[in-house]
Amino acid sequence: MTRIRQQNVTAAQWSSNGGALGAQDLTVPENNPFGQNVFSVAVQKERLPGEVFEKLQTTLKDGGALDPSLADAVAEAMKEWALENGATHYTHMFQPLTGSTAEKHDSFFEPSGDGGTIADFSGKELIQGEPDASSFPTGGVRATFEARGYTAWDPTSPAFILENPNGALLCIPTAFASWTGEALDAKIPLLRSMDALSRSAIKALRLLGDDEAKRVFTTVGPEQEYFLIDEQYFFERPDLISTGRTLFGAKPPKGHELDDHYFGSIPERVLAFMMESELEMRKLGIPVKTRHNEVAPAQYEIAPIFENSNVGSDHQQLLMQTLENVARRYGLVCLLHEKPFAGVNGSGKHNNWSMGTDTGANLLNPGDTPADNIHFLFFCTAVIQAVNKHQGLLRASVANIGQDHRLGANEAPPAIISIFLGAELDKVFEAIASGEGDPNTPASFLDLGTQVLPPLPMDGGDRNRTSPFAFTGNKFEFRALGSSMSLAFPNTVLNTIAAEAIDELAGKLEEKLNGGSGMPEAVIEIVKEAYLANKRVCFSGDNYSEEWHAEAEQRGLKNLKTTPDALPEVLADDTVTAFEKYNVLSKRELESRYEVWVEQYAIRANIEAEETFSIGQTLILPAGLRQLALISEAGVSALEGEVRELVDELVAALGDLKEANAYPDDLEGLDWAEYARDSQLSAMAKVREAADKLERVVADDLWPLPKYEEMLFIK
Ligand code: ADP
Ligand code: MG
Repeated sequence: MTRIRQQNVTAAQWSSNGGALGAQDLTVPENNPFGQNVFSVAVQKERLPGEVFEKLQTTLKDGGALDPSLADAVAEAMKEWALENGATHYTHMFQPLTGSTAEKHDSFFEPSGDGGTIADFSGKELIQGEPDASSFPTGGVRATFEARGYTAWDPTSPAFILENPNGALLCIPTAFASWTGEALDAKIPLLRSMDALSRSAIKALRLLGDDEAKRVFTTVGPEQEYFLIDEQYFFERPDLISTGRTLFGAKPPKGHELDDHYFGSIPERVLAFMMESELEMRKLGIPVKTRHNEVAPAQYEIAPIFENSNVGSDHQQLLMQTLENVARRYGLVCLLHEKPFAGVNGSGKHNNWSMGTDTGANLLNPGDTPADNIHFLFFCTAVIQAVNKHQGLLRASVANIGQDHRLGANEAPPAIISIFLGAELDKVFEAIASGEGDPNTPASFLDLGTQVLPPLPMDGGDRNRTSPFAFTGNKFEFRALGSSMSLAFPNTVLNTIAAEAIDELAGKLEEKLNGGSGMPEAVIEIVKEAYLANKRVCFSGDNYSEEWHAEAEQRGLKNLKTTPDALPEVLADDTVTAFEKYNVLSKRELESRYEVWVEQYAIRANIEAEETFSIGQTLILPAGLRQLALISEAGVSALEGEVRELVDELVAALGDLKEANAYPDDLEGLDWAEYARDSQLSAMAKVREAADKLERVVADDLWPLPKYEEMLFIK
């Protein structure tokens, strides 16, 4: 490619607004855009008849079913509000099993019969849509002759207006199901899992002496990593366009060895992009909080403040979409792939997770009083039990083809799921387990007769960046999610397995209490028993080390290295039992997800393999041949051998890849995915190896692709 080109965007051209958002005093309410485009509780209160508003709020708080008679009034208010804000269309936005969002737009306006139009939007239209579902993956749930699915309004995630330079659109978050009632999306199971967790946790809280809490919500605070590259390079890379990652590219002379990017000053164009995307997000009610450079050059992070899992998950989809859209206004492309550049740190998404009551208590907050600490120990122990029992499923919940380049490399947690509790908490659990004191643990702590537990000082600075599942003060941080992922399934899994463990421990507690045990003693006994039975999953050392892999194997922990290794966990007996028992997903619904995800892996692997062949054959091989011609034209025969050898290597590797790509037609399911992994992906690696070596010897102006150096360092 031509040598490092100047980016062709000037400051004045940045952004659709000419880079002129300006600085405003946001303490002035009219200036503050937060939630401006959201049909929020405040807007509802202002616009809905008082009685309708009250009923709707009660329904949302208690998590009950919605009274259909409210729908017309809500639809009318929503329509008026949307029209006043410039919307011409509405859409039920849903999350099919593809992992992204889907939308079909309908106009509010219908012919009025006299040549004009009237705006119409009924309660029925708000509550239910009927998209043709035949083009969405269902993993065999819906036979193709039954093409209808239906979308159902989710009143717990607020509707919002999406602006476009040429108009606006009312978006209504919805669930997507088949006519037979099976969940065809990511939202329904998430909502069901939140209900399940609430039921279990309320049951436990009652036993623990809390008579006030009515509902428990799970919360999620995601930290999103992403890359930004100049769009010019993006469009010159067919691999980025079709697979989201570079299938070729030699390591540049400078990587992140100098550690000069992480938390470094943010380049002006990038900061301008961040500010505009955050403004868009604030208008949509996404509580963005933190931004910074990440470890790799051209890598960044954005983190909103946590919200309830359903809203947080919807907001995360919107956040990713906003990053992608706004980047283009700045001549940039946002890459959400887990591993866009080989040899350079990939992108993940930390999933901070906790449980909170409607009375404002965080159940994973150690707190200052003995009662709080008893609650904390109980719920924390349930999480340990859940993660140990369902480690394989948790691993499967973060599996996709992009993740296979990341999990287990020395940049992301390993494919082995373990929990980091931190030194303080380790000490507490060990003391409970052994029943023996520790010089650093106050004696009163072990003197259960006095019913006193000390405050548990959790040091927020106690961090282990290598752990896939770490306790971080008042929440668990599941660090193994991929950057492109929806939060929905990993959180569905967390909620469901926690619901199961809490329920089991609550059952034991009930038994002990009925048997006459006193309160703190009963909990401490349960904590001790469960911790001892599950402590193999707790590990505070270096998760990247080879020793851990050996030790984990001894402990009997699973090490599911690739997506095809992990996905069968979705159908494991323990998974099916828990998901059916807590009404989150039926076996059939789990099977449909498994099928879709296995197929997606195989299809994406095949696209990568075809693209690798195409680029190798039609772009890189010709560059090698031109270099050979150049050498022979110059008559410097000493240079010829190395290049010829590499060209031969490339030709041979391309031949093997071509063969691998012609896979037998009757391959299906997991066999197909395993074939893709073992034959196609390994043949691709050989092609890349030869090509990347050629990149180092072919004349720069003959090289057909932008290089890592250009893509990563031109900001
Ligand atoms: P870091 O992990 O980088 O140290 P913080 O600890 O400040 O950062 O928080 C990281 C994320 O955890 C933020 O998105 C924050 O909103 C989220 N978080 C904090 N408390 C909770 C909670 N109770 N439930 C879920 N997420 C939470
Ligand atoms: Mg974090």
